[in-house]
Amino acid sequence: MDLEQMWQSTLGEMEVQLTKAHFATWLKNSKLIDKRDDTVFVALPSNFAKTWVEEKYQKNIIGIIRAMDNSVKKIEFVVGSKSVPFSKAAPEAQPTPSAAVAELDFNRTDPETGLNPKYTLASFVVGPSNELAFAAATAITEDIGRKYNPFFVYGGVGLGKTHLIQAIGNEVIAKYKGKVKPKYVASEQYTRDIVWGIRNDRIESIKKKYRDVDVLIIDDIQFIGGKDKTEEEFFHTFNALYENNKQIIISSDRPPQSLPTLEERLRSRFEGGLIADISYPEYEMRVAIIKSKLQDMNHQLNPAVIDLIAKKLRKNIRELEGVLKKIIFTEERKQSEISLKAAEEIIDKATQNLTKRVNDSQILKAVADFFNISVEDLMSHNRRKEVVEPRQIAIYLLRDISELSYPYIGEKLGRDHTTAIHSYEKINQEINRDPSLNQKILMIKDLIYKS
Ligand code: ADP
Ligand code: MG
Repeated sequence: MDLEQMWQSTLGEMEVQLTKAHFATWLKNSKLIDKRDDTVFVALPSNFAKTWVEEKYQKNIIGIIRAMDNSVKKIEFVVGSKSVPFSKAAPEAQPTPSAAVAELDFNRTDPETGLNPKYTLASFVVGPSNELAFAAATAITEDIGRKYNPFFVYGGVGLGKTHLIQAIGNEVIAKYKGKVKPKYVASEQYTRDIVWGIRNDRIESIKKKYRDVDVLIIDDIQFIGGKDKTEEEFFHTFNALYENNKQIIISSDRPPQSLPTLEERLRSRFEGGLIADISYPEYEMRVAIIKSKLQDMNHQLNPAVIDLIAKKLRKNIRELEGVLKKIIFTEERKQSEISLKAAEEIIDKATQNLTKRVNDSQILKAVADFFNISVEDLMSHNRRKEVVEPRQIAIYLLRDISELSYPYIGEKLGRDHTTAIHSYEKINQEINRDPSLNQKILMIKDLIYKS
């Protein structure tokens, strides 16, 4: 029996054991990529899927496989990448990178360009709220570095800034077949790079990394302001690129004149280019976005439910998408159309109604439970990795769900308010880039609302 067949049979059995939604979420994009000695290697699309599958399904899977081939004793899950880790038992025998894994397309961020291929201009729904920004984005891909330089786009959370500016990068790659080099970076990452470069005497190579591009895309510039060295360095990079007719694209949650900590000379540079805002989408556009996402997911929805979602989720497309996904999951799990009432419940749950009733301890407990640590760990000064991220997520959720003040949150966790701000902002940005983090947070929210 070859590996492919073995895995297909395994999946067949797992599909019967799991709900449709769980199967689709955790196992659909998996592959058995190798077998060496008594170990089989299974590739999964994300770290999160790996943790989940290891924890919940490992035993079942190995049972099913052993029923077909009892020489198998162990299963190792790897996150989809080109290489497979060594089996500890056979250090010499390096498994050949499996073509199957290389082929898996998990919609991941490209480490070289920082771009995620899922964001395209074609999938960006255009309406009055983002028309100008979209037109400028399209024009830029046709006349890089000249027409609208720099291009500054601003707007509230979840309204499509990251999508649009990443789409410019992806479009440029497609259009110029690799001859034009874009680079996307969130300003937090940029700051970290600069700080690291200074500390480790590698600032020249960091400088080069950001100057050696044709299109530099910086997301959420509001987080750069006030950090002297970073801002200084960015100013010089900006000038170097600008003078060479390289394209600069910047996003922010507010217009340049409202970036209080930003140095005047940098602000006036921004104002010298094109500034476009993205505002709240109006009803027709929200419907269009829902329909477009439905098409992507190959799912149909009762028009009355579409109408309900579009009416109730007005201020954040990311949230609208989240609700839509939940409704689709529900339909798939029940294998039937959702009732208006059930849809409304999902919507209310996702929006304000429930959030008000959640208290701090419920949030902390849900985070601790999810990560299998204790609430004391969250509040401790332990800096182990297994505790640091959960703690940041707890801070993020305390702010996001309960809208507590930073000083209050800081105190709650025995920290000062700047740590609270930093943690919140970090998670808030990473959610955009890291779908598995986003998924974790959605699941923790589920735990909170269920408690
Ligand atoms: P922001 O960076 O402004 O916080 P994002 O770009 O991360 O927002 O958008 C949030 C989600 O909404 C993403 O999944 C994105 O694909 C989707 N989205 C936003 N605007 C649009 C649009 N005009 N058409 C289609 N999807 C959109
Ligand atoms: Mg963003």
